[in-house]
Parts: sequence; C-alpha cells; structure tokens
Amino acid sequence: MRARYKPWADDYLNEQTSYVELEPAANKGSWQSRFKQEQPLHLEIGAGKGQFITGMAKQHPEINFIAIEVAKSVIVSAVQKVVELAPDNVKLINDDAKDLTEIFTENELDRIYLNFSDPWPKNRHEKRRLTFKSFLRQYQKILKTDGEIVLKTDNKALFEYSLISFSQFGLVLDEVCLDLHHLNDPTNVMTEYEEKFSSKGQSIYRCRARFPK
Ligand code: SAM
Repeated sequence: MRARYKPWADDYLNEQTSYVELEPAANKGSWQSRFKQEQPLHLEIGAGKGQFITGMAKQHPEINFIAIEVAKSVIVSAVQKVVELAPDNVKLINDDAKDLTEIFTENELDRIYLNFSDPWPKNRHEKRRLTFKSFLRQYQKILKTDGEIVLKTDNKALFEYSLISFSQFGLVLDEVCLDLHHLNDPTNVMTEYEEKFSSKGQSIYRCRARFPK
C-alpha cells in the first residue's frame, strides 16, 4: 500500500501512546496487561489504513486486537481512525512482521489475520510472502494450539501459493472460499483493498487454517 511521505508521522505516532506500542517487544508475554480486559487476542499483519481493525474492534468488543503495519506513512491513517473511535481493545505496532517471535511469546495469540497481503509475484521474492514457511514457523509458535490463520485476498496466485504452503506445512484447512462476497457473510468486515477490488467485480478468496494439535 503506497502513501505520500508524511514528515509529521514520527511525531504523531510518538504522541499516540494510548494506542501505538512504541516498544512492542517489551510486552512479549504480557500483552493482555495492555488492555482493559483479558480476552482472546487477535493479530492483523499488514493492517494498511486500519479499516478492518477498527471495524472488527467495533463488532467484537469481546476480543483484543493488535495490528502491525510496516509503512509509517500508512499506519498513521490507521492510528487516526483508532484515535477517533477510541476503543479499549486495539493496539497498533509500526514494525515489520518478520520478527514476530521477538514481540509475542509462545501461545500468546488466538488468531492471525492476513488481509490482502502483498503477493510478491517474482519467485526470487518468495521469502517475503507472509505465507512463506519462515512466517508459518513464527505463526505456529505464537498461536495457541487451536489458534487459526484467516487469509483474504483478491490475488489468485497468492491464494493458491498459500494453500500449498499451508498444506506442505501440515496445516488443516477449515475453510476454502473462492467467492466470499457471494456467501453474504454478514459478519465479514471489509478492508480498504477488499472494497476496492470487489467494487471492480473481482472475486475475493478466503481461507481458514489451523496447525495440527
Ligand atoms: N490489509 C490492508 C487492506 O486489505 O486494505 C492493506 C493491504 S496492502 C496490499 C498490504 C500492507 O501490508 C501494506 O500496507 C504493507 O505495508 C503491509 N506489509 C507488507 N509486508 C509487511 C510486513 N512484513 N510487516 C508488516 N506489514 C507489512
């Protein structure tokens, strides 16, 4: 997701300490203490401008949400949405998801969302895909035994790649949906990319996967 360079982004993020976790690794193993209530913990990776996380936080006050986004100029829009909503169940992290095991301890998360992740179509960039085996290894550690990964994308190649990568890693697929919007799932919260692509008539794919017990 591209966004114009925002010279004020650093100062803005540093000021929003109610929602932005400036030292996320310091919370490893104690994320629940950062929230008002102890309740299931869900992580969105590559949160973009925050439409999904704010929508989910409103729909699910019984869940604590953390969203991680690497691009500073993008996450500031998510922070602005969260500040406006003022939920007590959302925290945001401006970081790369490549070192998640430094931020979360084993079995700390109940669910991981991968929404419209960058597809990195070139073979030489396979390692950057958020469903590459090195990422799955991290997810396996930080997710609880019955925790799940929920992936949505418009990108058929990334979807197929992810299904194969999940299967090769031994994950169990609980759902494989090739046209999410025809399911008319009233609980589905759309991301910015999801709105953009579905308005152009593109199918949205979704799958749910679990590591075996
Ligand atoms: N999830 C949003 C949506 O569906 O509208 C944004 C999708 S956008 C295509 C992918 C986002 O993931 C970008 O904002 C990008 O900066 C972020 N991203 C990509 N790789 C990441 C990583 N390793 N760690 C954290 N964020 C990442």
